[in-house]
Amino acid sequence: MNLSTPIEKIPGIGTVYQKRLKKLGIKTVGKLLFYFPRFYQDFSQITDITKIKLNENVCIKGKILDIKSSRAWKKKIGLTSAIIEDKTGAIKVTWFNQPYLAKVLKKGEEIYLSGKVLLGKSGTYLSNPAYEKYSSTRKGKIIPVYPETKGLSSKWIRSILRPLLLGFKNKIPETLPEDIIKKQNLLPISKALWQVHFPDSLKLAQKAQTRFSFEELFFIQLFILEKRMKLNKEKSFTVPFDVSLVQNLVKKLPFKLTDAQRKTIWQILKDIEKPKPMNRLLEGDVGSGKTIVAIIAALLTIKAGYQVAFMAPTEILTKQHFQKVAKILSVFNINIGLLTGKTDKWSSKKLKNDTIEISRAKLLEKTIKGEIDFLIGTHSLIQDKVKFKNLGLIILDEQHRFGIEQRAKLVQKPKVKSKTKIPHLLSMTATPIPRTLALTIYGDLDLSLIDELPKGRKKIITKVMGQNDRQEAYSFIKKEVKKGRQVFVICPRIEPTNNETEINNQNISLGITSGWATVKAVKEEYEKLSEKIFPDLNIAMLHSKIALKEKERIMKDFKYGKIDILVSTSVIEVGIDIPNASVMIIEGADRFGLAQLHQFRGRVGRAKHQSFCFLFANSQSKKTHQRLKALINCEDGFALAEKDLIIRGPGSFFGTKQWGIPDLAMKAISNISLVEKAREIAKEYLDFKKYPIVLERLKAFQEKVHLE
Ligand code: ADP
Ligand code: MG
Repeated sequence: MNLSTPIEKIPGIGTVYQKRLKKLGIKTVGKLLFYFPRFYQDFSQITDITKIKLNENVCIKGKILDIKSSRAWKKKIGLTSAIIEDKTGAIKVTWFNQPYLAKVLKKGEEIYLSGKVLLGKSGTYLSNPAYEKYSSTRKGKIIPVYPETKGLSSKWIRSILRPLLLGFKNKIPETLPEDIIKKQNLLPISKALWQVHFPDSLKLAQKAQTRFSFEELFFIQLFILEKRMKLNKEKSFTVPFDVSLVQNLVKKLPFKLTDAQRKTIWQILKDIEKPKPMNRLLEGDVGSGKTIVAIIAALLTIKAGYQVAFMAPTEILTKQHFQKVAKILSVFNINIGLLTGKTDKWSSKKLKNDTIEISRAKLLEKTIKGEIDFLIGTHSLIQDKVKFKNLGLIILDEQHRFGIEQRAKLVQKPKVKSKTKIPHLLSMTATPIPRTLALTIYGDLDLSLIDELPKGRKKIITKVMGQNDRQEAYSFIKKEVKKGRQVFVICPRIEPTNNETEINNQNISLGITSGWATVKAVKEEYEKLSEKIFPDLNIAMLHSKIALKEKERIMKDFKYGKIDILVSTSVIEVGIDIPNASVMIIEGADRFGLAQLHQFRGRVGRAKHQSFCFLFANSQSKKTHQRLKALINCEDGFALAEKDLIIRGPGSFFGTKQWGIPDLAMKAISNISLVEKAREIAKEYLDFKKYPIVLERLKAFQEKVHLE
């Protein structure tokens, strides 16, 4: 038996279990051995039932008073519930989709349970806990808990793994270079695998995990560094640094550039002056003025004789950019095209003309002939039929909204007739990237940072509101609207829900105890506000299910002040510029990440008016309160992102999921010193000619993680 032996050959796994494993993507012995525990339960740490607290992971020991299975909620979910009692009290326990438990665990038996305490309709309960029978558990034993998925208990996994691992007896091929293992004092692979699954102590379990985390970070670094090295060898177009042209444009702006804007413009122009492709990420908080920086780079590129493609994630944004670009560049004699995705209309703006609508075919033709200098669009720009004559610069706005593949496609496509050169790439984002992520998944990019806001912006006053503060908020809105201001109301959902399966899944994945059912929905809130609270104001709603034309009309009306209050889902999040808006109400604020809340907040306070952000949360937990408090005290998107990284983990960042990074590496990514160490060591092994075995392993790793 070796690592690629199919699981069918493993003794003791019947067809039912084979199917369940395959559902998790486990098809081989190797995959199974590398299916790691989510955490370890120390069964020596027992909590009294009366002392357990909401939202805590606890381990209890007690007697089963009652246990039964049922099918609930329109037969979608199998439910097993039990009552467990210890000497201090009793608690309800609930398992989903594990009906066999009622047969395995019997009334009167003593068991250990470990899991999370949640709040349900009928009080607190222990949710989907792992269990150990008292008889089979030594005191002080460390029990690994695996990500439990339909019908695969941690217990079962352990029972299969033990004989399997014993059978391998130290014969698992080492995947890290031997000298790294020695120098870094890491556990060799066989020992590490055993300790991950059957640890002698918590310390050894951690040491084993560190080995695998390090390994994953090491290969991620190798991959990134190699990518960077390759790109450095490519050729691109040289765009002369035309100072007078820059001055000419800057002179015409209605504002003075900030120092930070100047600095980043300089960095970018220095890059594209060189004959190798730029791969730069421009990071700047909401409202820091990234667009103008991009437009300046675009102008120089166009005047050097090349085309520019500008890709943004939503139609609304592309329109906004189109208008802005057309206005700012109106005296430079430039042809600008707008490609919209869903409708078949293209429009093109020629100098001095107003926008004229032309057919898509025509615009495509103009683009390939080089008659369009500056093409703006959504994902539609990556379609194969969109071809350029000489694309010199690609600008990606809100780059985190695009998948890695989409980004790669935009650069690689045979968009340029030149076979030997590839265009420069400028990505932009308002999502601050914590340093560890900048060194890992964004590690192939150079970073430019706009770290100051234009002068004269007032600090946005942020408040966490209780449910009793609603009236106050509403009368405040009335006053602001009377002054001529406008208001955003953000809700987490489009429609109210009573689908309990969905609610439950959501709650479990978010670790939240308040039900989705109580979370505000756009449609409901819109009705309430327009009919009951503000019958004499103009209110509109916006969400992803509204037709594009209608969305655009609403945004336009909002922009021109015809709408006082816009009730919206998070579609409003990116890039929308409504300088007259001064109040941002966020319902269900606990449902969003801090960085995301910060983005919402950035939709107001974009002009001279004092602006406000009011946060309403459903959950009243301490953790929620702490998180939202952080928002009040902090205007620095970076610091908030770091906090998110700590509180919610790297999975909450765009990009990390798309990579398919294994859970372990995911956790390890927050560990800056481990990331830095892996990077330094990876640099030493980049010379693959010298280390062919490392290249081979990198390839295997790439396949496993599908890095693109
Ligand atoms: P973001 O970085 O969020 O994309 P934008 O580029 O949309 O920000 O800029 C936000 C607003 O600030 C726009 O209305 C823009 O015209 C304006 N702006 C940009 N730079 C400055 C500046 N230096 N001073 C004043 N206003 C500026
Ligand atoms: Mg923007």
